[in-house]
Amino acid sequence: MAIRGIEKHQFDAVIVGGGGAGLRAALQLAESGVKVAVLSKVFPTRSHTVAAQGGIAAALGNVAEDKWLWHMYDTIKGSDYLGDQDAIEFMCKNAAKAIIELEHFGMPFDRLESGKIYQRPFGGMTQNFGESPISRTCAVADRTGHAMLHTLYQRNIRANTQFFVEWFALDLIRDSEGDVLGVIALEIETGQIHIMQAKTTLLATGGAGRIFQASTNAFINTGDGLGMAARAGLPLQDMEFWQFHPTGVLHAGVLITEGVRGEGGYLVNSEGERFMERYAPHAKDLASRDVISRAISTEIKQGRGVGKNKDAVYLKLDHLGEERINKSLPGIREIAKTFANVDPIKDPIPIVPTCHYMMGGIPTNLDGQVVLEDEKVVNGLYAVGECACVSVHGANRLGSNSLLDLVVFGKAAGDHMAAAIKANNTHKALPAGATDKTLERVNRLENAQGENVTEVGDAMRKTMQTHCGVFRFPDLLAQGVREIDAVAKRIPNLIIKDKSQVFNTARVEALELDNLIEVAVATMHAANNRTESRGAHAREDFTERDDINWLTHSLFYKKNKQLTYKPVRLKPQTVESFKPKARVY
Ligand SMILES: Cc1cc2nc3c(=O)[nH]c(=O)nc-3n(C[C@H](O)[C@H](O)[C@H](O)COP(=O)(O)OP(=O)(O)OC[C@H]3O[C@@H](n4cnc5c(N)ncnc54)[C@H](O)[C@@H]3O)c2cc1C
Repeated sequence: MAIRGIEKHQFDAVIVGGGGAGLRAALQLAESGVKVAVLSKVFPTRSHTVAAQGGIAAALGNVAEDKWLWHMYDTIKGSDYLGDQDAIEFMCKNAAKAIIELEHFGMPFDRLESGKIYQRPFGGMTQNFGESPISRTCAVADRTGHAMLHTLYQRNIRANTQFFVEWFALDLIRDSEGDVLGVIALEIETGQIHIMQAKTTLLATGGAGRIFQASTNAFINTGDGLGMAARAGLPLQDMEFWQFHPTGVLHAGVLITEGVRGEGGYLVNSEGERFMERYAPHAKDLASRDVISRAISTEIKQGRGVGKNKDAVYLKLDHLGEERINKSLPGIREIAKTFANVDPIKDPIPIVPTCHYMMGGIPTNLDGQVVLEDEKVVNGLYAVGECACVSVHGANRLGSNSLLDLVVFGKAAGDHMAAAIKANNTHKALPAGATDKTLERVNRLENAQGENVTEVGDAMRKTMQTHCGVFRFPDLLAQGVREIDAVAKRIPNLIIKDKSQVFNTARVEALELDNLIEVAVATMHAANNRTESRGAHAREDFTERDDINWLTHSLFYKKNKQLTYKPVRLKPQTVESFKPKARVY
């Protein structure tokens, strides 16, 4: 389907992304009477949020005594002290309210005997500042994201949010003063180009795990918001920090939730040993994800892997019994049968660390406003969810804190946008030639000669997988920078081979690669430059955390591939700051 002319639309607020973050913000706006449009490249309830399994954290204290301050401490420690403490404070303090709100929206949480919301243990979540594991993660069996996303979607329908489904946002519109005035989008079905002019624009485009070969992420997680931000001259923050989830199904990459270990499952090596006891004597299989992923990689490297190639370890849960597995982990049983060909009621599941979550993203403040290096706000632009970096996850996210991040900051951004629209209820004039560069980029794909999208994409994924994995080696990183820069040079040359295609799917795939490469380049450069080990960034040559030189967020700019750094915000608003200390589990 060829590209057609341009249509213009005006909205108070345009939201790119119909996942948990976009829908929570949209709901806040629609309910405040604002005219809001949500663009999504897939039907909203197919967003990756739907795949979230294990749950959403909040110190409700339904199973044992709990405090938001303990949750805050765990999150800061989990972040390896790179998280901004005021943002973490805000999230943990507002968590209980956010859960009750979701419950009132109709989210069907699992229940305890007492009738209160059920909570399960998750890695790194503890009572009394690390004393013992606590049940803090609220869940809907192992389909929490599914329940949350459908609840939010239905509330938005009720609130008259306008959806533009299978619309692909291409670029931000930014004027000469640096203000953002909306987005340019492609209607996938027809090839029509649209200008969505807006008083406020929110990016909620989710993660970008598809820069790696092995990923738990959906194929749609291509970092489009980050690509749009980078092309608009905005920085990307903390891109060296990628979470590898300890338990992806071997060869398939599909996620087995941490909830399995929360329910009592554990890891064993080829000798049948519960090896986590050696790496994290206290928390064992419920240590933080970066710690467990490194332990598994080390076991495999030292020859204690399982399977034909000894390249996995086992996740054992048969001892939980059929009834408990069917009740609390039915989706996991299905996944294990489908993707690993084992029934976990009888046999262990072969798993490996797999790329899962992007801690970095578009820098924002606590209201979701996109900020520059000096914390100066980019007028009109907001970002929330996995594409944003506020930063609550720092160098390593705790499981079940992302769903929480979406709803807490989704609401905050929605509130701020509604107020901003009320305060200044006019559209700024669009700059001349607003669509020129974008159309040039889209139309290049029509060239007769050029490179195949799959080939270039494979080169990128292979480079990232080989050079920027769980452990990072100096020579591999340096070579990785050269290789990823070389792959990036091939991007302007992409073409669509089969021009007779009825649908625009091949075009969208090419445009997604434009975005993925921005994420990959930022990741590789930032990783190469950070000469310490912190959270998910583990270097073989600098094995220690270095708080003297590196208690800083990285900011990567596309232009000149420039890297700058800004200090971590260590001061919360209402409580004492948590001083960095050694991180043991
Ligand atoms: C398998 C899996 C399990 C997980 N389990 C948990 C868990 O149990 N607990 C937890 O806290 N976290 C979990 N996470 C992490 C968490 O689910 C995600 O970080 C979170 O759901 C991301 O939400 P989001 O709203 O930011 O983005 P998404 O849900 O990914 O939504 C992105 C939206 O943006 C749209 N979009 C993207 N690009 C464009 C474009 N160019 N134009 C138009 N629309 C666009 C998409 O259509 C989609 O609607 C899990 C992640 C995975 C992958």
